[in-house]
Amino acid sequence: MKPFKVRLRFHGDLSVFLGSKPGDAVIERRLAEKTSIKDIIESCGVPHPEVDLILVDEKTVGFDHTLANDTNVEVFPVENPDTYQTHKRLQALGIVRFVADGHLGSLTRNLRLLGFDVAYRQNADDRQLLEAMARENRALLTRDRRLLMHAIVQHGYWPRSQNADEQTVEVIRRFDVSEFIAPFTRCLRCNAMLEAVAKAEIIDKLEPLTKIHYDQFRRCPDCKQIYWLGSHFPKLQKRIEEIRSRVRHKP
Ligand SMILES: [Zn+2]
Repeated sequence: MKPFKVRLRFHGDLSVFLGSKPGDAVIERRLAEKTSIKDIIESCGVPHPEVDLILVDEKTVGFDHTLANDTNVEVFPVENPDTYQTHKRLQALGIVRFVADGHLGSLTRNLRLLGFDVAYRQNADDRQLLEAMARENRALLTRDRRLLMHAIVQHGYWPRSQNADEQTVEVIRRFDVSEFIAPFTRCLRCNAMLEAVAKAEIIDKLEPLTKIHYDQFRRCPDCKQIYWLGSHFPKLQKRIEEIRSRVRHKP
């Protein structure tokens, strides 16, 4: 087969995966055999769940499209939901169930605080993460881009920041789920939905001052952790408001 040249232009923040400066980046690949567009893109370091739109010679194509001739390819990240309305998108928005890798404990707590369903085990291995993802139809959150490239991953995200609050903003934006924020509804420790519980039922488990000052309680049905809107509440609420406002105002 005659060797051919593929010229890929990566748009938006996909340049983070190429180790290049912010802004559009161009990579050229010489190939000698028919290759799927997905494999070519991933050989450049960009995991397929980060790609929302591919144009080959100005036509939209799916990941299984194969190339065998000189071609220009445009690759776009997931961006504002109304940016590419007219095109066929490859990624889904509105996903509210996640599985996070063991390094994303703080992000997991944040997302649970906001009411999102996040499966997390600190020592879960790659196979367990992928199983939870597939079995429970969750989007995979991981800083391991090789794992994100695994063929069975449909939806996932590689947090750009190393800071948990910034990662939280990123995830809410990426999946466009700010309307589903429901603070203080989920157990931060084990992810179960909290239930209202009568004070009388748990009064023997409360500290003396908590007994005096608070009347409304929630309990986790699984790990039995008790939650109330205590002295830490204004601080948490301020953090939640900060996250919300950053989701709304893109830098
Ligand atoms: Zn719990």
